[in-house]
Amino acid sequence: MSGFDYDLFVIGAGSGGVRAARIAARHGAKVAVAEEYRVGGTCVIRGCVPKKLFVYASHFAEAFEDAVGFGWTSEKVAFDWATLVANKDREIERLNKAYVRNLEAAGAELILERATVAGPHSVALASGRQVTARYILVATGATPFLPRHLPGHELAITSNEAFNLERLPARIVIAGGGYIAVEFAGIFSGLGVETVLVCRGEQILRGFDGDLRNHLTAEMKKKGIEIRARSEVTGIARSGDGVRVTLDDGAQFGAGQVMFATGRIPNVTGLGLQDAGVALNPHMAVKVDGYSRSSVPSIYAVGDVTNRVNLTPVAIREGHAFADTVFGGKDVMVDHSLVPTAVFSQPEIGTVGMTEEAARQGFSKVDIYKTSFRPMKHTLSGRDERMLMKLVVDGETDRVLGCHICGPDAGEMAQLLGIAVRMGARKSDFDATLAVHPTAAEELVTLREKWTG
Ligand code: FAD
Repeated sequence: MSGFDYDLFVIGAGSGGVRAARIAARHGAKVAVAEEYRVGGTCVIRGCVPKKLFVYASHFAEAFEDAVGFGWTSEKVAFDWATLVANKDREIERLNKAYVRNLEAAGAELILERATVAGPHSVALASGRQVTARYILVATGATPFLPRHLPGHELAITSNEAFNLERLPARIVIAGGGYIAVEFAGIFSGLGVETVLVCRGEQILRGFDGDLRNHLTAEMKKKGIEIRARSEVTGIARSGDGVRVTLDDGAQFGAGQVMFATGRIPNVTGLGLQDAGVALNPHMAVKVDGYSRSSVPSIYAVGDVTNRVNLTPVAIREGHAFADTVFGGKDVMVDHSLVPTAVFSQPEIGTVGMTEEAARQGFSKVDIYKTSFRPMKHTLSGRDERMLMKLVVDGETDRVLGCHICGPDAGEMAQLLGIAVRMGARKSDFDATLAVHPTAAEELVTLREKWTG
């Protein structure tokens, strides 16, 4: 149709790239996808999936303890890290193969090598081959940031390595306050590793609702995680089998591992984007418009490399919208507002919509409904853990602006609350909905008293 080798060349077979490739091929395009590491991308290979499997693994220590209150005795429980890693690898292998099969079934050609942009319509492959495409989609994702100026940074691991440690350390220091740092703190602590979380800010989880941040901090501390806020790692040195980590206040920790989860940077290095005329933003992410089109009309970008909302379902939606727009004949823009999300911390967070802080900036009258209670399970388990639920409501229109939950299954609740909030549900709709009893979620429809502080 075009005199090009391909209609679409996708660089990166992760969440966004795979979806775009499959949908474009379904629309009749001749598609190639290059992948330099493993098909499936961060989410499948070293992100969401292995992370969630590790979260499950780390819950069992408490589950065994909690079971006693329900009459169970569990003698001689033991955990084997090598078994967990091997079983996780088997599952990832299965998913990786399924992704390859799906791409091939869609008719996309898979090229297992690094690709770079050589011009508005040209792609250079690591093997030296050069191909042309009517459109190029950059879906190269992001990489963990490591502070290379820091003495001893080469001794630190990131989430990439955390999934395949040879053995569990007795103690770990995790630098970072975002969701990945918080999730790994819960994983390691649950697996019996003494865990120190060092975060630069006043508190963990910047950008989340203040009550959630307070609540989770308190619960994590109850589980024995040491949280050092307003602190920074200033040096790492080898010490015996492990490392000695120094903080800016002079505190030192001996640890088996130190992990950095202090952000991720878009994968643009050496990709040839700027030479091809593709503009980057100050965060070194590809600058795109609402249709994911870059400053070069034939080059688009989706997912983490654009640093919009760095989550798998968003990358998938962007990839799908791109393919429908460019090859499917319908213009689709992705709405990046109201993205429901979970943090698989312990306890878990589920949230959608505005924080109280953001609502108070944008609305003149904000009503807050919130409750903190002991989940029913813990009446018998005896565990000292509380659950938080909070609704942020526009006091003038009664519209629910945000829902924030910290407690078991909060992520599952956020998925469903996301529908209600997107539909513009009002507090009165929540009130009119009958409770599912006995559940924790019923609190969401039985909250009547405005919080007065
Ligand atoms: P990726 O999935 O990263 O795919 C990019 C692909 O491009 C990679 O396979 C890479 O190897 C390849 N590539 C890069 N450069 C080249 C090149 N030059 N040539 C060929 N191939 C190249 N999101 C959630 O929604 N929920 C979660 O619970 C969650 N947990 C996470 C946990 C961790 C530890 C991490 C790190 C991330 C997590 N995420 C989660 C984020 C999620 O993984 C990303 O948002 C998502 O994978 C982004 O998809 P993508 O297509 O933009 O990039």
